[in-house]
Amino acid sequence: MTFEQVNARVTKGLLHQWQVRNSTATIPHTIGQLRSAGNVDNLRRLLVADAPPYRGRYPFLDTDLYKTLEGLAYEIGAGTAPDGAPEFFDEVVEQIERVQAEDGYLNSYFQDPACAGKPWEDLAWGHELYNLGHLIQAAVAARRRMGDGRLLAVAVKFADLVVARFGPGGEEVTCGHPEVEMALVELFRETGDRAYLVQAGLFVDRRGQGKLKHRIFPPEYFQDQLPFRELPSVTGHAVRMAYLAAGAADIYRETGDRSLFEALDRLWDDMTATKLHLTGGLGSRHSDEAIGDRYELPPERAYAETCAAIATMQWAWRMFQATGGAKYLDVFERVLFNAYAVGLSADGKAFFYDNPLQRRPDHEQRSGAETGGEALRRSWFGCACCPPNIVRWTAQLGDHIAAELDGALHITTYAGARIETGPIALAMETEYPWDGDVRVVVERASGEPYAVRLRIPGWARSVTASVNGRPVEEAEDGWLTVERVWAAGDELRLRLPMPVRAHGSHPYLDATRGTVSVARGPLVYCVEQQDCPVPVDDLVLSAAQVAGAAAGRQDGLPGAVVLQVTAGTAPPPSAELYPELPAEQPEPGETVPATFVPYFLWGNRRPAAMRVWVRNK
Ligand SMILES: [Zn+2]
Repeated sequence: MTFEQVNARVTKGLLHQWQVRNSTATIPHTIGQLRSAGNVDNLRRLLVADAPPYRGRYPFLDTDLYKTLEGLAYEIGAGTAPDGAPEFFDEVVEQIERVQAEDGYLNSYFQDPACAGKPWEDLAWGHELYNLGHLIQAAVAARRRMGDGRLLAVAVKFADLVVARFGPGGEEVTCGHPEVEMALVELFRETGDRAYLVQAGLFVDRRGQGKLKHRIFPPEYFQDQLPFRELPSVTGHAVRMAYLAAGAADIYRETGDRSLFEALDRLWDDMTATKLHLTGGLGSRHSDEAIGDRYELPPERAYAETCAAIATMQWAWRMFQATGGAKYLDVFERVLFNAYAVGLSADGKAFFYDNPLQRRPDHEQRSGAETGGEALRRSWFGCACCPPNIVRWTAQLGDHIAAELDGALHITTYAGARIETGPIALAMETEYPWDGDVRVVVERASGEPYAVRLRIPGWARSVTASVNGRPVEEAEDGWLTVERVWAAGDELRLRLPMPVRAHGSHPYLDATRGTVSVARGPLVYCVEQQDCPVPVDDLVLSAAQVAGAAAGRQDGLPGAVVLQVTAGTAPPPSAELYPELPAEQPEPGETVPATFVPYFLWGNRRPAAMRVWVRNK
């Protein structure tokens, strides 16, 4: 399947608000935090005598800079970077150029003469190839979006060192944290040098061969207990797993290796059928930040790291690129508007590391690599992988709303946007995800027949569409295809009705048995204590009550569609933890009004209990 990146720019609506917030709030905040946390100093100190010690305790802190540079490359290229960002970009790039060792090696942790560890001596935990991966991604973005090849020269030099050392005939090792695989394939695409593609394949193939020396974590943590093609299920550290799969999908796209695709297909289907939270979050265990067993999806202990959301979207997008399958985009959208979006505060300056689907009233929970309990999002973390990952991913959302596959334009996510390919240019108008009406107006067309395909989300029912007022045929396999000779001014309309839906869960999913969740369009909703007159743990909701919910607006959550629900209440519970059951269930109590808000917006007011899954008896 041929894939072409189209020129797409988000211009209005929620995704545009996110991009503006990224530029005006999150990026300046992130730059400030990178300076105060020591990430910039960690490079600078290698250039001066008698420097203070390395700041932070992880060997991968350079990647927080690389991810930010990648995001800045998109912003600078688009002319939307905030004041000071281009100067920050230049400052850090110049330091990177100077710090890189003569042989191409680059890692401010191991290059410290005072560092107890030596380069390459601990591939399982050293993260050196993971660092290279993020460096390459920043470098390719800078080359493509800014025409700036400085970072690419650094990245190529480091990558060449890696190929020489770990390539065919070299040391047969791989990295404890997959990421470099995706990046090496992109470096191959950028440079045409096939050695990088071969290297990416070697790093995937060497897993599960006993080549990594694990000291702290079990082999499953590193997806190293079995060869990739033999993994029965997504497993181990969630971010590692999804980055690895995304890299393998890239390799499949370039090599056509069916054995890789068969593994990816099996792992994807297993993940979506048994291991994804309702929000699209991946990861159920705080221990080892691991995915967990099938159907192990506890809402209050969902780990669902923000980075895992990004990694899942990267995997989903590559599966779509490889197959054109709409099912991958259903997951992409679920993650984007829920598990991903919740990771950032409404003001763009505070972050969740883990993203649970429930908060207890007396919550006190350790998050990620942090110590101590926390009420809500934090301004930064000692292990700050998630914030700069949000910066770079939000900056490139425009690249993920449309694509040209096999000569047809596929519109994959609805947003106010302008989309351009060789044969066509069009403007898209919509309030999505708050509303399901989409209007696409052709601005320029080639005069040749051309197919435009609109994604029909898996949740949508009773979909209608028209071209210039005339109804068009029904969708097939998640796509509504309109092929015709387009002319400027042609109007394509799509209507995706958005009734409020109630969702239950698979009977094996013990943690949410006896509960119901609320969704509308691609959005999962939740109830926070400030919007509920009884304790949220005593709220009782039927599917009929969900269907009767009214969509509206609420002060304090500008722009968002909230849902007014009339719900039941449970009688006061027994004080006993394990009471003997009565022969008959008591009748539900009185009904009360409650407001459900989009899950991604929870936690932007005062700290309070929250539930996605509400009792239904
Ligand atoms: Zn993270």
